[in-house]
Amino acid sequence: AAATEAPKWKLNNGLEIPALALGTYLGFDEHGVMTSTNKQLRDTVVSALRLGYRHIDTAAVYQTEAEIGEAIAMCVANGTVKREDVFVTTKLWNTRHGRVRVAEALRDSLKKMRLDYVDLYLMHWPVALNEDYSFASIDYLDTWRGLEDMQRQGLARSIGLSNFNRQQVARVIKEGSVKPAVLQIEAHPQIVQQDLVSYAQSEGLIIMGFSPLGSLVSRFGMEAGGPRVDDPTLVEIAAKYNKTTPQVLLRWLIERKIIPIPKTVKQSRLVENLNIFDFHLTPAEVATISAFDSNKRFTFPSFWQNHPHYPFEKIKNPIRDPFGRK
Ligand code: NDP
Repeated sequence: AAATEAPKWKLNNGLEIPALALGTYLGFDEHGVMTSTNKQLRDTVVSALRLGYRHIDTAAVYQTEAEIGEAIAMCVANGTVKREDVFVTTKLWNTRHGRVRVAEALRDSLKKMRLDYVDLYLMHWPVALNEDYSFASIDYLDTWRGLEDMQRQGLARSIGLSNFNRQQVARVIKEGSVKPAVLQIEAHPQIVQQDLVSYAQSEGLIIMGFSPLGSLVSRFGMEAGGPRVDDPTLVEIAAKYNKTTPQVLLRWLIERKIIPIPKTVKQSRLVENLNIFDFHLTPAEVATISAFDSNKRFTFPSFWQNHPHYPFEKIKNPIRDPFGRK
């Protein structure tokens, strides 16, 4: 089947969100330099929009906003899409958590992307840092009020959270004025987090799942011990539907009402990752895939684990900040 557009799901504020997003985190090397050229990313985003992708996920810290903005501008200029057809998600970085700094940060992102508004602005982490990456004592609720300001001013149509744990989400819901529309968390068979997912969904939040391909792909040499691309259980399910194992994992998220955010810079994989809306998994197959759960994260910045708002479980030997900052 040819690639098509993903369905749209309703947010708790009445707006709609496309149920598949293109990931754009290209990674950094040990010097904090992007590992893939941004020009390639711009062309990837242009291809994605042509194929039917309608949701792009980025973040100030990925340093890809300018290329995404360029791609959207090109596609609007040549009539591929209208601005309002594309759902753009970006994220506030940890060094800009002060309530007034949120406005500066979003204005910077908008300028880079050549946009007057983003569709979704997420607080990337509950952890506030100073410019030198030492811990800042800003409460994420103050930061949340800054995001609320951005929504009120029309610079962000919807606002939400990323990498928050259940208690932190609950506190924002209880004490904030605007209920978060979205929670973005790591989501693949190694980390099912059904408690957090069910809780947030019961509160009306839409979940976006990052690193959706989990252990199927190589991750900077990190081994999760999870299923690989040729895992027999996944291959069997994939064969039944004439799909690939990556498509099965993405569909598993859709069945759980989670928006997958697969990242690829390869044309054939753009098509593959979008073609997940013409089949269903049975509840038994969803359960079989969920049974790979080992509560294993690939994104766990343990160098922040002594921060009062660190969201995850602490580990014995925290790793050093790969950016070499404090
Ligand atoms: P993904 O699970 O999307 O995996 C990406 C890797 O898989 C790339 O190496 C890509 O290679 C490869 N790949 C993509 N599609 C296929 C396929 N069909 N078959 C085989 N290999 C494939 O991981 P990410 O960690 O990048 O997560 C996705 C996105 O989620 C990020 O880009 C970012 O937007 C977001 N994210 C958010 C975080 C947060 O803190 N909120 C944290 C981490 C990610 P290639 O490009 O060569 O095809």
